[in-house]
Amino acid sequence: MTSPTALTELDDAALRQRVIDCGGQPFQARQIAQWVYRHGVTDYDGMKNVPGALKNRLAAELSLRSSQVENADLAADGTEKLLVRLRDGQSVECVIIPDDARTTLCVSSQVGCPVGCVFCASGMFGVIRNLTVGEIVEQVLHAKARLKGDRRITNLVVMGMGEPMLNLPSLLPALRRLHDKDGIDMGARRITVSTSGYPRQMAEFAEADPSYNLAVSLHAADDELRRKLVPTAKHPVKDIVAAASSYFAHKGREVTFEVVLLAQVNDRPQDAEALVFALGAIPCTVNLIPWNPVEELASTGLRRPHVAAVDAFAESLRAGGLKVTVRRQRGADQSAACGQLRLRDLRERGDTAARC
Ligand code: SF4
Repeated sequence: MTSPTALTELDDAALRQRVIDCGGQPFQARQIAQWVYRHGVTDYDGMKNVPGALKNRLAAELSLRSSQVENADLAADGTEKLLVRLRDGQSVECVIIPDDARTTLCVSSQVGCPVGCVFCASGMFGVIRNLTVGEIVEQVLHAKARLKGDRRITNLVVMGMGEPMLNLPSLLPALRRLHDKDGIDMGARRITVSTSGYPRQMAEFAEADPSYNLAVSLHAADDELRRKLVPTAKHPVKDIVAAASSYFAHKGREVTFEVVLLAQVNDRPQDAEALVFALGAIPCTVNLIPWNPVEELASTGLRRPHVAAVDAFAESLRAGGLKVTVRRQRGADQSAACGQLRLRDLRERGDTAARC
């Protein structure tokens, strides 16, 4: 017997057909979807207005979810990192970041990551596989269930493990489901997808409806330096910037460029100058992210930049006419850097040799 498919993998039409096949009425598919996505029920019993016979038939074929939260690390500042166990035993991370009235959720798009940035724990063992539509959506459902009182997820960022542009066939339907007014109802303006720079896929993403925010992890404007930081980078910076510029022209949404700053690697005056030269002509914001040291990468000799160096870098960009934000550190006491919770899990399972 094959194991039941998770309901979160089905689009509206497929769920409607499944409900009809199980003896239900088409409108009941909408009711069921509302229970799952709006009310977050984890059991068919919680669907009060759905007949018992239909629930029993559906339950025999469709689980409501295919993943579960296996571990949660809560930092002193309220940042909570979840380790989500998937149906096939793989794991991903998502992070809930409360900040006054705002709560940002960072989700993963792949198991592992093929990009291999030298400063990131997520890319250490390559990519295992793409996440499915349901596995992306379920990260949001798991996070929603952990929020207390009136707190709700106000912003979603696809900046966790993986390269989202290499999983658009799952990501775009997942984002549509999260945006759906009858479901989680998350405004597209509150959803940001971050890429390390794939111009063709960025153009495809620009065709998505509705329009989401785009962030590009640039890290350096000089191609040679960038290739040292992002060894798999195939596209020249000028092509990535051109794709971001086209995104703005097409969508009217300013692109954010992210720069993870590493002491004496890409935080020097000439690195700031190169960014001003590369980005000065397009409407954008540069988000500076002082690197979080990662135990597993200690041998690389990479260091977090001094506050004074970050301030000076930001000032140089501003003097060059760029808008700049500096990300403050969150959840520093709980494996805050991307991918560390999963690495800990792999280590405990003796699985650190896992590669694609
Ligand atoms: S920083 Fe992002 S793109 Fe780079 S290896 Fe980590 S998860 Fe992948």
